[in-house]
Order: sequence, then C-alpha cells, then structure tokens
Amino acid sequence: MNSKTIILKTDEEIEFMRAANRLVGMTLGELSQHIKPGVTTLQLDQIAEEFIRDHGAIPTFLGYGGFPNSICTSVNENVVHGIPNNKPLREGDIISVDCGTQLRGFCGDSAYTFCVGEVAEEVKALLRVTREALYKGIEQAAEDKRVGDIGSTIQSYCESKGYSVVRELVGHGIGRQMHEAPEVPNYGRPGTGPLLKNGMCIAIEPMINMGGKKVVFENDGWTVRTKDRKPSAHFEHTIAIRNGKADILSTFEFIQ
Ligand code: MG
Ligand code: MG
Repeated sequence: MNSKTIILKTDEEIEFMRAANRLVGMTLGELSQHIKPGVTTLQLDQIAEEFIRDHGAIPTFLGYGGFPNSICTSVNENVVHGIPNNKPLREGDIISVDCGTQLRGFCGDSAYTFCVGEVAEEVKALLRVTREALYKGIEQAAEDKRVGDIGSTIQSYCESKGYSVVRELVGHGIGRQMHEAPEVPNYGRPGTGPLLKNGMCIAIEPMINMGGKKVVFENDGWTVRTKDRKPSAHFEHTIAIRNGKADILSTFEFIQ
C-alpha cells in the first residue's frame, strides 16, 4: 500500500475517529474560555496539552515533523501552522487554533478561528464566510461525488464574496495517520479528482484570505502568512462519509 492509497474505515473505526474528534472539539471549547486580550498563545498551548493528556490522548501535533507544540496558533495575517509564543493576544485580533489528538490509535483534527474581544465587522464577515464555506464543502462530501466538488464549491462561494483561497495548503484524508490520501484542496473544478466513497474520512479545512491568495513561508520553518499581511481565516472539520453522506465527526458545540 502506498501513500496514495485511500484507506476506507469500518463503522467501528469511524466511532474511534468520532471519539478522537470529539476530544478535539472539547479542547477547542476549553480554549475558547481562555481566549481574551492578554493571554499568550503559549499559555493556550499548555492548557490544550494538559487537557488532551488528562483525557487519555496524545496531542498529535507535538513533535509532528518537528513541530514544537500541541496546537497551531495563527494570529491575524498568519494563515496556519503558527507556533505558540509569549506574545499576548490583543483586542481585535483573530486567532486560528488548529488542534489534533490521537486516541486509541485514531486521529482527530479540527480548527476554529476565534475573535479576541471586539473584532472589526469586515474581519467578522471573513470568519463567517469561511465557516459557511466549510459547511458548503461538507455538503458536497457525499458518495459518488468527487474531491473537486468540495473544492470548487468552497472556492466559488468565497470568491463570490471577494475573498481568495490559499493554494499551497489543503485538506486531507485522516485515520490512524493525521495525513492520509487523498489531498482535499479548497479550490478546483467540479467532477474532477478522486471519487468519494462510503468509509472515507477526510479533513476539510478552508483557508481563506481577505486580500490576495499569495502566502509566504516564514523563516521559523512553520508559520504561513498572507503575502499582503491582510487577515486570513481557517475552519476545519473531520468528516466521514457514511450512508452516502457526510457525518461530521469533530464539533464546535463546546465553543463559547
Ligand atoms: Mg488541523
Ligand atoms: Mg488538517
């Protein structure tokens, strides 16, 4: 089996995936209570790591490819893969928190972009549209559709609102490994790409920029930011395709 092989999951395996993803949702919920002006992303990281370990799981990101922390914290113009640091959050910031767990051998992966205090209306609109785009993409994740149906739906919706879609980073299959085949871009053409089937588990994660689509990879080896330094939003769910349609395994229900 090579890395391009899409690994279908049994119903039993999907329930393990649901448990890992529910814990990610609970972790994001816990963090939502702490996200306010003055808190540092390193403090959030410590809260997340402790919370995940207290629930008998492993923070998947810690050490993944050498990543130094348990969550990715990407503030304002940072798109994804931000490294937690000692800089306090400020009123008006937005912060994408991306979190992964491994529980009883299966992975959860979900991300949410939070507002820090009061945020400008135009930035709130970017968050709203990105989140809506995620759910529109999820609706396309049905048996006999193709991966391109997900990406094209996300892309056309976000572009219709005047935003742009990051090309360099994409969603992915997920299971025992955090990143499995197939890649799930947030752009593309309808009716193209791998066929979607029952038993597939994928993470759909639109990364949407207020300005241009170009990004820069920072010298820290991880952080990806917008080239024009305008804000970027990121929302992610892990889903399974079951009984012909998407079953959302992660959850935002704990977020306050
Ligand atoms: Mg993620
Ligand atoms: Mg992901």
